[in-house]
Amino acid sequence: MAPEPNPPELHLVAAARPNLPKLAALVHALAERPAFCRPVLVHTGQHHDAAMFGGHLADLGLPPPDVSLGISGGGHAGLTGRTMIACAELWAARRPAMVVVAGDVDGALAATLAARKLGLPVAHLEAGLRCGDLDMPEEINRRAIDAVSTTLWAPDEGTAARLRAEGHAPGAVRAVGNAMIDSLLRARPAAMARPLPPGLVPGGYGVLTLHRPANVDGREALAGLLEAVGAAARRLPLAWPMHPRTRQRLSEFGLAVPEGVMRLPPLGHLDFLGLLARARLVATDSGGVQEEAWALDLPCLTLRPSTERPVTLEAGTNRLVPPAGLGAAVAAVLAGDWPRARPIPLWDGRAGARMAAHLAETMGAAGATA
Ligand code: UDP
Repeated sequence: MAPEPNPPELHLVAAARPNLPKLAALVHALAERPAFCRPVLVHTGQHHDAAMFGGHLADLGLPPPDVSLGISGGGHAGLTGRTMIACAELWAARRPAMVVVAGDVDGALAATLAARKLGLPVAHLEAGLRCGDLDMPEEINRRAIDAVSTTLWAPDEGTAARLRAEGHAPGAVRAVGNAMIDSLLRARPAAMARPLPPGLVPGGYGVLTLHRPANVDGREALAGLLEAVGAAARRLPLAWPMHPRTRQRLSEFGLAVPEGVMRLPPLGHLDFLGLLARARLVATDSGGVQEEAWALDLPCLTLRPSTERPVTLEAGTNRLVPPAGLGAAVAAVLAGDWPRARPIPLWDGRAGARMAAHLAETMGAAGATA
């Protein structure tokens, strides 16, 4: 089929760091097809500095954003409201054929609401995730995004079936697999070639990441976690690429990083994957890292009471660990008491291709008449 001379625009909304690997999978898959749409990368600005955003683009093979809205800070309501206004102004003028939002951050919610109120179709990349904890800002966002999206790309068949059972039109829901895994598999060879931070040897350290509000925004919770991290670090040195939110809280609360923990700045995508791939384990409250750990067959100690990625628990690599249990969980890993990763259907590096195929089906026809 000959490419369309002037294909309609597909706006891809990137708000924060974890959106980028997911969108990259779709961008690369679209580039392999005849152009039925023109991808336009819209950066809302939620994460905006080089460490959390700009530096990740080249690592993921993404171009600079086509549109930068420059909206950051201001708390959940302020950020969501100002991002909605900026998106609505952009899309009232440009009328893309479709908007894609990834994940569950405030910028994704704002973009979804703005687009749908303008009558634009929205595809939610990573639809259907639920941890059941409505005190988590991300859980509110993902439920609200799913509720009004017109296309829902779920990471597995069970999640897709649950979305259909919630009442979404069967044709709107598709199990496409996990876009994060696409990006990891693509980046892995380059990541393995990155040097480790001085002093770390393959298999001789664990990785720590923490940034969930429930873990870091309260002094008591964060102090308790630091104690647990200290106990873990007495068994295995830990490398901690620190999220800016956590760095700020540590300084506000006057808390110190325990002995045995190497504090690092937030790392670029390749440097972080290179660090993760050669670690003995990861302790984290990140969503994406739970998935990446599965792909690397890396024991993942999730420092949360629940997860929206239960398939990683079933696959064996991931366990929910309360802070008080962290030292013992590290000891269990070191003793070899951890299962190998069991397969997860569709987490095969082809999620981008499945999303692009679905878009070509749903949008190709609309594009022909646009
Ligand atoms: N990541 C990174 N550098 C770091 C820490 C994480 O590039 O220093 C990547 C990680 O590989 C994953 C993504 O950031 O692809 C996960 O983002 P984050 O943990 O911030 O958010 P969540 O997944 O919890 O929404």
